[in-house]
Amino acid sequence: MDIPTNSGPDAGRSIDFAILNAAGHCSAAVCVAASIGILVESGFTRFFLAVVAPASGIYALIALAWVRRWRQSHWPSRAASQETHTLVVRDSSASPPKLGAAQRWARSKHLEPTSMTETSPRRHTVAFIMSTNWAGSTALGLVIGSRHDAAFLGEPAMILRRDAQGGWRHQEFCMTCGSGSAAVCPLWGPSLIAQTRTDPDRFYDLAAERLPGARFFVDSSKNMDWVEGAVSRRHVDVKVIHISKAVYRYAGSVLNRRRGRQPIEAIGWHWANENREIREWCAAWNLDYLHVRYADFARDVAGTLQRIGKFLDFQPDPRQEEFWAYPHHYIKGNPGTATHFDQARIEHLKGHNRELYRQHHRMIFLDDTWKELLTQDDLNVLCSLREVRQEMEILHHEFPRYSPPSFARRIRGRLIAGALRVSHRIGHSAHR
Ligand SMILES: [Zn+2]
Repeated sequence: MDIPTNSGPDAGRSIDFAILNAAGHCSAAVCVAASIGILVESGFTRFFLAVVAPASGIYALIALAWVRRWRQSHWPSRAASQETHTLVVRDSSASPPKLGAAQRWARSKHLEPTSMTETSPRRHTVAFIMSTNWAGSTALGLVIGSRHDAAFLGEPAMILRRDAQGGWRHQEFCMTCGSGSAAVCPLWGPSLIAQTRTDPDRFYDLAAERLPGARFFVDSSKNMDWVEGAVSRRHVDVKVIHISKAVYRYAGSVLNRRRGRQPIEAIGWHWANENREIREWCAAWNLDYLHVRYADFARDVAGTLQRIGKFLDFQPDPRQEEFWAYPHHYIKGNPGTATHFDQARIEHLKGHNRELYRQHHRMIFLDDTWKELLTQDDLNVLCSLREVRQEMEILHHEFPRYSPPSFARRIRGRLIAGALRVSHRIGHSAHR
């Protein structure tokens, strides 16, 4: 039987309120203490930059979170209509350890497992590539999917994405068919999109009907609900490849596309949080898990493919890493990677990427743009953030040369991290 992912708009509300109140008091206390210290130590300009500006941002974030929570509790029907996925836990006997983990996880999210049913007789192996944005998941998926008995699907979770008005948000369903229309694509057209929207649970059955030679699928959807749906279906055998980029490489990718939109501390916090969530989520579900560092993949594609082959039980095909030489039909993914199929797409790339992909057409290369985009001060702040340091160590990424930032920057880092944690917690419980 099915378990709704949301036990109502009030779920977790009292906890959020307590956290908000605590965060408000703590922020105020820290601001007062920091204000006195910095005012005495450094004068008004640094006082303003270090405390007043970030503190204003934090309170704006908290206010936004309140508005979001208020809207949800006052328009429950709209919130319910946005809940397009259901979490389904099926079959208790086949894999007790996985189900146990699922139940523990469900309880921690205030969900109640209910019944078990059987749907599809055919088993599918799906290798999910989970990552932050710009960690190399598209190139890695294409390399794995270039095997004769595998298929890279890109990010099929996009099929179910809706816009604010409730309409379907994503329109481009094949990155290689040129027209961007599903109608002409042998995999996605003409009906796979509509059928998936009608019955998302049948997605891998439908894909298998169109790809009878595929022993396994590679799916790089960056949507936890989508992956949870697959994990909880008995006929889908889930493997997870977690690919991560070191934080400074990730920050370089963000700045290359969205310079100036968010403080460097926020970029670092999001990087750490997303990677931590992926690790902890895989552990909670007791999934087969392999971590790959982006830099290792880019420097040694053949060696990485051997590792992945052991994990997914295959011997790499000859020249499998030259993914552009094989047919692929996939949804979304990195626009830069798509230029290896269609050189004309290079002109649409942003920032340094246009030149980078022009120089490296039909090559897998290590993107070192961060060296041009990040200052030493950025590196100091990024690598000193507690959450970032922890995650860098767990994922075995190398640190660049850096030194601890000033006291004022450290305070600013803690304030920003605290505000983001509160805002994320509220957003997460509203989504659930
Ligand atoms: Zn296509």
